[in-house]
Amino acid sequence: MLLNDINSVRFEINKWRKEGATIGLVPTMGALHAGHLSLIQKAKEICDKVVVSVFVNPIQFGPSEDFDKYPRTLDADRILCEREGVDIIFAPSADEMYGEGQRLSNDTLTYVCPPFFYVNTLCGKSRPGHFDGVCTVVMKLFNIVQPDKAFFGQKDAQQVIIIKKMVKDLNVPIEIIQCPIVREESGLALSSRNKYLTEDGKKDALVLSKIINNIKSCYKKGITDVSALKETAYSFLTDKHDLEYLEFVDKATLDNKREADDDTLVLIACRVEGVRLIDNIYIGD
Ligand code: AMP
Repeated sequence: MLLNDINSVRFEINKWRKEGATIGLVPTMGALHAGHLSLIQKAKEICDKVVVSVFVNPIQFGPSEDFDKYPRTLDADRILCEREGVDIIFAPSADEMYGEGQRLSNDTLTYVCPPFFYVNTLCGKSRPGHFDGVCTVVMKLFNIVQPDKAFFGQKDAQQVIIIKKMVKDLNVPIEIIQCPIVREESGLALSSRNKYLTEDGKKDALVLSKIINNIKSCYKKGITDVSALKETAYSFLTDKHDLEYLEFVDKATLDNKREADDDTLVLIACRVEGVRLIDNIYIGD
């Protein structure tokens, strides 16, 4: 069932609650691919009812980012969701989410702002305000759907760490389920933004997964010095790659590591053909 308004969603959810059903929420921006479907399948496996939200959230995009050109494929998304047995696809407009004519700014709207140490690093550094926008919309979706469990991908590792922190700090009674990264056979992590890449660009984009896999195998061989591990990674880069960051952090707190250990998360962001791509790996696994 495709619903666009909050009241209709609440109406359906209330019926489920009376039946004692457990509810899973999978927040997405649409342009669904197998990565999203893995979250939906996990939700179907452990919840009685599943809601998938499809909303390209304007407040998490910076002024020079790709909000206008972000792929919007609701008809195809709907077919995929129905095939997976999704109970509600919630696809609101920005007016429905934020109020008609509402100016989208923290001058006039209440925002949920995650802690400075979690946002002033990695993707948050080059995307100021991004995680405020993410936490605000996720909190709104949590309040609208009131799910028992919500499903997020490790693909956006900083995002899921920040959401877990928000849930803990604000006593949100929802369990966050983190799902592994789904990749193409080539190793490329699936992303809605891969649609912007040419075939050559997709080959060049393999550098992200190659670098993080190489770091993991070097670590398994006993190299723990982060500077040395970074040096080996840089040798994979060519003039086709515009590296934004390659960082080694604690997988729970995002604190920087100088020596890699089993709790280390390695994250990379790199532009290929002007498209900003991200990937990450737990090297201790
Ligand atoms: P998005 O539509 O890009 O906002 O993503 C919605 C959710 O799908 C987020 O929790 C993402 O982390 C997750 N996701 C995106 N790509 C993948 C992937 N390749 N594997 C697993 N989860 C993913």
